[in-house]
Amino acid sequence: MAVEMHAGLASEGGSKLKMLLTFVDNLPNGTERGTYYALHLGGTNFRVLRVHLNGQRSSVLENDVERQPIPEHLMTSTSEELFDFIASSLKEFIAKEGDGSNISTNRRELGFTFSFPVKQMSVSSGILIKWTKGFSVVNMVGRDVAACLQEALSRKGLDVHVAALVNDTVGTLALGHYHDPDTVAAIIIGTGTNACYLERIDAIIKCQGLLTASGRMVVNMEWGNFWSSHLPRTSYDIDLDAESPNPNDQGFEKMISGMYLGDIVRRVILRMSMESDMFELISPKLKIPFILRTPLMAAMHEDNSPDLREVARILKEVFEIPEVPMKARKIVVKVCDVVTRRAARLAAAGIVGILKKIGRDGSGGITGGRGRSNTKMRRTVVAIEGGLYSSYSLFSEYLHEALNEILGEDIAKHVIIKVTEDGSGIGTALLAASYSS
Ligand code: ADP
Ligand code: MG
Repeated sequence: MAVEMHAGLASEGGSKLKMLLTFVDNLPNGTERGTYYALHLGGTNFRVLRVHLNGQRSSVLENDVERQPIPEHLMTSTSEELFDFIASSLKEFIAKEGDGSNISTNRRELGFTFSFPVKQMSVSSGILIKWTKGFSVVNMVGRDVAACLQEALSRKGLDVHVAALVNDTVGTLALGHYHDPDTVAAIIIGTGTNACYLERIDAIIKCQGLLTASGRMVVNMEWGNFWSSHLPRTSYDIDLDAESPNPNDQGFEKMISGMYLGDIVRRVILRMSMESDMFELISPKLKIPFILRTPLMAAMHEDNSPDLREVARILKEVFEIPEVPMKARKIVVKVCDVVTRRAARLAAAGIVGILKKIGRDGSGGITGGRGRSNTKMRRTVVAIEGGLYSSYSLFSEYLHEALNEILGEDIAKHVIIKVTEDGSGIGTALLAASYSS
C-alpha cells in the first residue's frame, strides 16, 4: 500500500490509487464559531444539516439533521433534476428555521459532502471523475460539482455559498481532528470503503510548487481501487468482479466493503451446495446476485444460539432453503467468518500502509532511516466511520486483532482507532467554517 501511495503521489495515473488532492491544508481545531450547513450526497441517503459552533472544542455541537433516501430515479436522471432536488431539500430545511433569533439572515455558508471521486481544483471546486455506487447521472462526469450545486441554489433563490466541496473521508478526518488534534487519517468502511490522510506537501511530487501555509495537505486516496499482485484472489472474487458493472475497478473495495461481503458468502454457499449434498436441493434463490445483504450475513455470523436458529431462519428467509441441518449451519457460519476476517485484515493492512507512509508505524517511513528501536512512537489517531465497522462487531474485532499483529503491541498501543460518526456531515460543516470567505 505504502509503495502504491508513493507511486500515486509521484505522477497522475502512476498507480491504481488516485491519491487525489483535496486542497484542505488546515483541519478544524476547535476555535470555529458560527452557524454552518452541510449537504451530503453519498451512498443511500441524502442529508442536510446545520451545526452551531461556539469556539470551544469540548462543547457539545448542536446540530439538526434531516435525512431522506435518494429517490431512485434521480440516480440516473439529469444533473439539473438531481441538483434541483438537493437545492429544494435545503430550501425546505432552511424554511423550517422560521425567524429563529440566533440565525442570521446573512449569506449562509455550506459544505457539500460528495462521496464520489472528484478532481479538485480548489477547496470549493472540483470535477467529477466517475460515478460509483449505482449512480449514473448523465452529463456530469467532467463537470464542476460545486458549480452545479451553486447554480441550483441560485435557481431556488437561496443566498447560500458553497464554501467547501468535500469527500466523506475528508469530512471524517476534519471531525476527528476537531476533537483530537493527533488525528492523521480517516477510514470509511460502510457500503464502500475509502481513506484519506494528512500528507507533507513536499511528498506530493506530482504537484511540485504547490505551497500551503501548513506545509501539509489532506490526500483522498480512493483506496477502494487499490490493487496489488500480492493480493490473493479467489474464484469468487474474480466472478464477482467480472459480473459487476465496473470490472477491474475497485478491487480492494470488492473484498472489504459492506456492499460485497454478503455476495461473496452467497457465491461460496452456492458452489458448496452444487458440489456437495450440504442442502437437499439447490435453491434457485442462491443464484440471485446480492440477494444476501451484509447485515443478514453478519446476523448469521454472530448467531450465538446453541442450535444456530438465526442461521436457519435467515437461510430460509433469504434463500428459501427449508430445514437446514446443523452441520450445514455451522459451515455457513464458518464461511461468513472467513469472508469477514479476510475483509477486516485487509482493511487493517491498508491502515498500516498509511501509517508506514507517514512514518507512524514505528519503522521510520518507507524510505527507511531510523530503526524501529530508537524511534519514539507518537500518539496517532485514525478516525473511522461506516456501518460495517460500527455495526458488525466481529469485523471490528478482527480489524483490531490484525492491527496488533502487524504493528506489534508496543507500537499498536500508540495507535488509536476512534469511531467518528457523522464526520461526513458535521466534519464538512466544520470545513465550511474553516474555508468560508
Ligand atoms: P454508507 O456507506 O452508505 O454511507 P453506512 O456507513 O451506514 O452507509 O454503511 C452502511 C453499510 O454498512 C451497509 O450497506 C451494510 O453493508 C453495512 N452494515 C450496516 N449495518 C450492518 C450490520 N449490522 N452488520 C454488517 N454490516 C452492516
Ligand atoms: Mg457513509
